Amino acid sequence: MFNIKNIFATSVLIMLFVLNSCKKEDISSGVPISKFTSDFSVGEDSLTVHFSNISAEATTFIWNFGDNSAPVYERNAEHQFVNSSSTTKKYTVSLIAQNPNGNSDTVTQQIIVCKKPIASFTAVSDFGATPFLVKFTNTSTNSATYSWNFGDSFTATGISNPQHTFINNTNEPKVYTVILSVKNEFGTSASFSKNVTVNLSGIDSHIAMGNPGNAQYNIDFPNNYLMIISQYIISYNNSKRTANWVSWHLSPEWIGDVNRQDDFRANLDLPSAWYHVDENDYSGSGFDRGHLCPSADRTKTIADNSSTFLMTNMMPQSPNNNQVTWANLESYCRSLVSDGKELYIIAGPYGQGGTGSNGYKTTVGNDVVVPSDTWKVIMVLPAGANDLTRVSTSTRVIAVKMPNNMTCSSQPWTHYRTSVDAIETMTGFDFFSNVSADIQAVIETRVDNVPAK
Ligand code: MN
Ligand code: MN
Repeated sequence: MFNIKNIFATSVLIMLFVLNSCKKEDISSGVPISKFTSDFSVGEDSLTVHFSNISAEATTFIWNFGDNSAPVYERNAEHQFVNSSSTTKKYTVSLIAQNPNGNSDTVTQQIIVCKKPIASFTAVSDFGATPFLVKFTNTSTNSATYSWNFGDSFTATGISNPQHTFINNTNEPKVYTVILSVKNEFGTSASFSKNVTVNLSGIDSHIAMGNPGNAQYNIDFPNNYLMIISQYIISYNNSKRTANWVSWHLSPEWIGDVNRQDDFRANLDLPSAWYHVDENDYSGSGFDRGHLCPSADRTKTIADNSSTFLMTNMMPQSPNNNQVTWANLESYCRSLVSDGKELYIIAGPYGQGGTGSNGYKTTVGNDVVVPSDTWKVIMVLPAGANDLTRVSTSTRVIAVKMPNNMTCSSQPWTHYRTSVDAIETMTGFDFFSNVSADIQAVIETRVDNVPAK
C-alpha cells in the first residue's frame, strides 16, 4: 500500500545518512553528497571567492550566494561579494547537489565581508597649560578594539572615549603626539594621530565658566568650530564668516603698555579649504572691522595685541556702535579691572542686516554676514584664584544687546542692559555652563542696574 507518511519517513532517514556523511562508505550509491571548499571565507569591502565543488554522486548543482544574486548552475563557481553597507555583513552560501533521481543534499558556508576600520578622534581642546586634562572622543568606524598612546608613556586600551591629564615638567611648551590604533573584528588595523600642545602652568583659561554651544575643534563642525589661542577662544562660523562668539578672561595680567599693532590679517589657522576673510573684506562697506576681544584688553606683549587683529576676531560693526557705545562698555570693563576685579567676557554678533555709514547691508566683502545686533555677557569677580569656585548667587553679571546701526550711540551702553537669560534665548547658547544650575538660575535672570558710566 502506497502510504505518503512512509515516503516522508524514508526521506528523513536519508537526510540522517547525509548529515552523518563522515562515514562515506555507509551511504548507498545514488545518494548525493554536497561539499565544497573556498579559497577565502573572510575579506574586506569587495571579496572575490572561488568555490571548488567536491560533491559526490551528483550531476546538477545550484549555488546560492546569500546576497540576492541569481543562482548559478555550474559545477564550480566564482563570486564577488560587495559589501556597500557601512558595517560587516555575513553571507550564507549554499550548494545544492542533485542526482538524476531528484535526490539532493545541501551544504552551507558563511562568507564574512567586513569593512576596513577608519581611525579618527577629536579632542575637546589641543592647547592648554599643565596639568592639562583633555577629553577625547573616538569617531572611528568599523572598529572593535581601541588602544590609545598619549605620547607621554601613558596608554589606555579598550576605552572608547578616554580622558587624559598631560603634565609638562619641562621649562618650555611641549607637543605630545596622541595615537589611536583601532582594529576591526578580523584584525585589520588603522591608526590616527593628533598633536596636543601643553604649555607651562599659568596660561589663562578663557572658558573656565563654560564653552557656550559646546564648540568643537573638528573640521566637521564648520559653523561651531573651536579655535584656541593663548589670548582668547573663538567659536567660528564658516557660513557667517565671523565668530559665533569670542571668549576671554580680562585681568591685570593682560594689561600693559604695548601700542595698537593694527596688523589686520586673515587667520591662516582656519582649515585651508574654507574662505579666509582678509583685511580688505570690509573695505568701503561703511562698517568697521569691529573687535570682539578689544585691542586694548591685550597690551602686555606685541604678540598678545597682534592676536586681536586676526579677522576671525572681527565683525562688521556700525561705526556708531563700535566707536561709541560698544567702546564705552569696553572701557568700563577695563575700569573694573583697575578697581580690583577680573572678568570673564563673551561677545558676538547676532542676526543679519545692519546699517553703517553707507546704509543698510546684509553682507560685506565676500559674503561676510553683517549682524543686526551685537551682544556681550560679562561676569565680574573680585581678583583672586580658583575663579569657578568663587561664583555665587551674588556674583555680578552684565549682559547687553545693542543694535548694529547708526542710532545705537543715541543711548549710553547702560540703556542696552538685559539679562543673560535673554541673550541665551536669543542666541541659543548656554553661558556659564560650568557654574551650578542653581547659581546660573539666579545670576542669569538678573538685569544689572549698578550705576555706571
Ligand atoms: Mn571696537
Ligand atoms: Mn547659562
